[in-house]
Amino acid sequence: MNSTTKKAAGDVLLSLTNVQRNYEQGGSVIEVLRDASLEVRGGEITALIGPSGSGKSTLLNIAGLLEKPSGGEVTIDGIVTSKLGSGKRGRLRGSHIGFVFQVHRLLPEFSALENVMIPQMLNGLGREESAERAEQLLAMVGLRQRCDHRPGALSGGEQQRVAIARAVANAPRILLADEPTGNLDPETAAEVFEHLNHIVRGTDTAALIVTHNEALAATMDRRLTIRDGGIAEI
Ligand code: ADP
Ligand code: MG
Repeated sequence: MNSTTKKAAGDVLLSLTNVQRNYEQGGSVIEVLRDASLEVRGGEITALIGPSGSGKSTLLNIAGLLEKPSGGEVTIDGIVTSKLGSGKRGRLRGSHIGFVFQVHRLLPEFSALENVMIPQMLNGLGREESAERAEQLLAMVGLRQRCDHRPGALSGGEQQRVAIARAVANAPRILLADEPTGNLDPETAAEVFEHLNHIVRGTDTAALIVTHNEALAATMDRRLTIRDGGIAEI
């Protein structure tokens, strides 16, 4: 995906329609999502908030094609996903979706630069081009001087900034983040979120961000929560 193929801001890039997710646990069925529907548009940042165990990570994993719903539909940039085989789902995820986890999940043996290069190379880009873009992205999140550091030699806030650079390495149309600042102090959280915000606004990405931080949620365009297995606007 390069910028010339991107649609105008405001298009619905992610939609969940009547999504259900049940888990079987010790003979009984837990209905985490009963009927969850939402739309996220390009250039829009939506906060997903709510108590622990309400199904936020489940919903995000389904939106990010990491997990399949028990029912309903997930549509990514107009592509209906329920009938796709695992190869196509994986490729769609690689090209369209960036994911930031609460704990960074960077590869410990690789430098910050390599961590941002790898998804680009997996997506078919050459080594030199990947390195060039990785350097630009790390500079954008204020880490120009940290390219050669391994994750273990970075602070928590720096690790999350690398994770954000990695998540947007393939210029995804959709950025999903599951409590990306949950392990950071408030000041560092605000700084990390500032970088995330800047990237989303600059690229017309659709962002769905799980957070417990009410101050951060208040700065986002919309706030959703999960109530009785459905989505409610707050
Ligand atoms: P949140 O992110 O809002 O804290 P989760 O989406 O992680 O919530 O979990 C929602 C509910 O689903 C919880 O009750 C959790 O125990 C249950 N759950 C999540 N994953 C599984 C699983 N793999 N097997 C069984 N139950 C699960
Ligand atoms: Mg969670």
